[in-house]
Amino acid sequence: MTPNIARVALPVPLDKQFDYLIKPDQNPVVGGRVKVPFGPKQHVGIVTAITDNSEFSIGKLKPLTAVLDASPLWQPPLFKLLGWASGYYQYPLGDTLANAMPTLLRKGREASPSSLKMWQLTHEGREQPITALKRAPRQVQVLNALRQGKVSHEALLAEEVSTAILKTLADKGWIETVAEKPAHKHWLRNFAVTEEKPRLNEEQALAIASVNANPDFGCYLLEGVTGSGKTEVYLNLLEPVLAAGKQALILVPEIGLTPQTINRFRRRFNVPLETIHSGLNDSERLAAWLAGRDNQAGIIIGTRSALFTPFANLGIIIVDEEHDASYKQQDSLRYHARDLAVMRANRENIPVVLGSATPALESLHNAKSGKYHHLTLTRRAGQAQSARHGVLDVKGLYLDAGLSAPLIARMRKHLEAGNQVMLFLNRRGYSPAIICHECGWLAECKRCDAYYTFHQQSGELRCHHCATQRPIMPQCGNCGSTQLNAVGVGTEQLEQQLATLFPEFKAVRIDRDSTRRKGSLEGYLEAIRNNEYQILIGTQMLAKGHHFPDVTLVSLIDVDSALFSNDFRAAERLAQLFIQVAGRAGRASKPGEVVLQTHHPEHALLQSLLHKGYDHFATDALRERKQAWLPPYTYLTLFRAEANQSDQVEQFLQQVRGIFESSPIFSQETMVMGPNPAPLARRAGRYRWQLLLQAPDRKTLQQLLSIAKPAIQLLPLAKKIRWSIDVEPQDL
Ligand code: ADP
Ligand code: ZN
Ligand code: ZN
Repeated sequence: MTPNIARVALPVPLDKQFDYLIKPDQNPVVGGRVKVPFGPKQHVGIVTAITDNSEFSIGKLKPLTAVLDASPLWQPPLFKLLGWASGYYQYPLGDTLANAMPTLLRKGREASPSSLKMWQLTHEGREQPITALKRAPRQVQVLNALRQGKVSHEALLAEEVSTAILKTLADKGWIETVAEKPAHKHWLRNFAVTEEKPRLNEEQALAIASVNANPDFGCYLLEGVTGSGKTEVYLNLLEPVLAAGKQALILVPEIGLTPQTINRFRRRFNVPLETIHSGLNDSERLAAWLAGRDNQAGIIIGTRSALFTPFANLGIIIVDEEHDASYKQQDSLRYHARDLAVMRANRENIPVVLGSATPALESLHNAKSGKYHHLTLTRRAGQAQSARHGVLDVKGLYLDAGLSAPLIARMRKHLEAGNQVMLFLNRRGYSPAIICHECGWLAECKRCDAYYTFHQQSGELRCHHCATQRPIMPQCGNCGSTQLNAVGVGTEQLEQQLATLFPEFKAVRIDRDSTRRKGSLEGYLEAIRNNEYQILIGTQMLAKGHHFPDVTLVSLIDVDSALFSNDFRAAERLAQLFIQVAGRAGRASKPGEVVLQTHHPEHALLQSLLHKGYDHFATDALRERKQAWLPPYTYLTLFRAEANQSDQVEQFLQQVRGIFESSPIFSQETMVMGPNPAPLARRAGRYRWQLLLQAPDRKTLQQLLSIAKPAIQLLPLAKKIRWSIDVEPQDL
C-alpha cells in the first residue's frame, strides 16, 4: 500500500503532530509546507513524515488542503538540527519550525523570489518601422531596447523611461508585460578579492593556518583584544571558502551590525552579501533567506536568527563577539545562537570560529578542556597601545550626579587636550526612584514590585518592568508634601549635570530612550566620529562594536551594582564590559585611560581583572563557579511561572519540584532549588516565582526534562498559569 498519510508539525502550543490524508493528486515532501484545516482555521505546517499508518482511524482524518512546497525548505542537516533544538530547548516542534521561517513563508507565501515585471515587444510592435516615430525619441528608445530582448520595468525606469511612455506604447498594442522569475547566476564567476590585504602578523597567520588545516568540522575560539585583527582573520578565512564557491555565515550581536562592519566585507570581496537583522521588513527578510538557499548570496551577515538561514553550500560559520548576551533568545524558542552555531557546523561538517576579546566562561572552559581549539591574538594590530586603568575609591566622596571630584578633574584634562570622554552608566532615565523628603514615601509601580523611574524630559514616571507610565504627581502620595526628590542617578541626569559642569563641551546620550527613532543611533555615531560631541554618555549600547579613536578617557561610573548582584554572571559581564571599553580607548598617538568608580576597590575579582587581565579573572571566576557548582560545571534549567494569585504559582512549582524529586534518575548530583520569588516578584500585576533545576551534565538534564515534562503538562494548575522552561538560562 502506498503511504497516504502526512504527519504535520503545526505552530500550535502542543507537543504533538497531526495526521492528514494525502489526496491522489497531492505530492507533499518531508520538510515542505502544507496547508491544513485545524479547528475552524487553516494553518500552515511542515510535513515531518509520510507514512501509511496513523493511531487514528483513516476515516477520521481530514485531507491536506494544499501542498505549498515541491521541495523541502531546509536541507537535512539543518532540518534535523531544528528538530534537535526543539527537543533540547523544550519547545514544540511546530513552533520551532515556524520560528525558523520568515514570516511570509509562515503565512503561506511561495518560497521563491518574487517575479519581475518584464516588458517585451508584441508581434505588432516588432513589425513597426522605427521611422514612424521620428518625433517620439523616448518611444524609439524603448522599442530599440526591447528589440534586444525583454527588459525589466525597473531597468527601464532606471534609464529614465517614464511610466507614461510605457503606457502609451502599451495602449498602441506594441509592447506588453510578462512576469518572469529572476535568472539565477552563480556569483563565483565574478568572485574576486577587490582590495589590497595587509600583511598578516605571525599570530594571525598561525590562527588562519590552524583553521585552514582542516576543512571539516572544528570549533575554534579566537581570543584577541579589540584591534588585534580578528576581523582581518575572518576575512582571510573567508577567502578560500568563497573561492571554492562555498558560502559564509557571520553572526554578530544585535547592535554590532554597523555599516562599517558590513563595508569591510563588501570592500574585500566581489560577492553578493545579504544582511539579516530586526530592521528588515517581511519581504526583505524572505529575499535574504532565499538568497542563502538559492546561492544568490556568498556572504550573509546577521544577528541571532540568521543562524536558521538555509544555505545551498555553506563553508564556514563565524560568531563574532561570541560572549554577547543577545545570542540567547529570551522568549518562545529560548535558544543560544552560539551553541546552535557549533551544533550546525558539526552537522554540516564545516569549521566554526568564535571570536571575542572576552570569551564567555563557558567557551573558555571548552577551550581549556580541549573541546575547542584555542587561538589567541595578543598584540594589537598597527601600533595602538593598551589603555592605562585604575580604580577610583569613591568611599566618602561627594558625588555630583554620580561623578566624584577626581573624575571630574580628569575629564577636564582630557577634554581640554581636545579629546573625547566616554561615561558608562547602565541606568536610563533621570533617577531610578522618587522619594518624599518629609516622610520617605517612594513612588512605586502599582503593578510591579518596583519603583518608578523618573524621566524628566517627558515629565513622566515610568515603570521599566511593565508598560505603565504616568505624569509625575505634584504631591507625595502619603503625606501630601510637595517636596519630592530624585534618588539615584540615571543617564538623563548625568547628561544634564554635565551641561552645567562643562558648558563649553557638548554631550550626547546614547541609550534606548535617545535612540528609539530608526536611524538615530547611526546619526549619533557618525556625529561622534566627526567630533561634534566631546562627552559621550551611554548604557551598554555604547560599548558594543563601535570604535571612537578620539576617546582617551573612559569611566564606568558605578561598578558596585554589578559586583554585588544576585546574578552569578554579573561579574563576568562587568569584566567583559571593562575589557571592551579599555580596548576601545585611545590609539597609537593618544594613549587611553580607563577609570572605575567603586566603593570596594579591594574586591578580589576586580583586583584580578585590573592587575592580571581577563584570562586571570576568568581563571579565578571559573574556580569560583566550580566550587559553587555553577555553569559551566553544571547545567541549569529555569522554570518561570506567573499568575494573578501568588499561592497558585508557588504551589504549581512545588508540584513540579515533586515530579523531579520522584523521578527515577534524580540523584545526589541533581538538585532542584526553590520555588523562590523571581527577582522581580510581581510584574504587571502578576506574581512570579521560579524553580531552578541543576544537573551534572547535559544528558542527565535532558533525561530529567523529557521524563518530567509530560507529567508537568498534566498538572491541573499547568493550564491555569503561565509558565516556561528556559534551558541553560542566561539571566537568573
Ligand atoms: P578586531 O576585529 O580584533 O577589532 P581588526 O581586524 O578590525 O581587529 O583590526 C584592527 C585594525 O588593524 C583594522 O584597521 C585593521 O585593518 C588593521 N589590521 C588588522 N590586521 C592587520 C595587519 N596584519 N597589518 C596591518 N593592519 C592590520
Ligand atoms: Zn510596573
Ligand atoms: Zn510624604
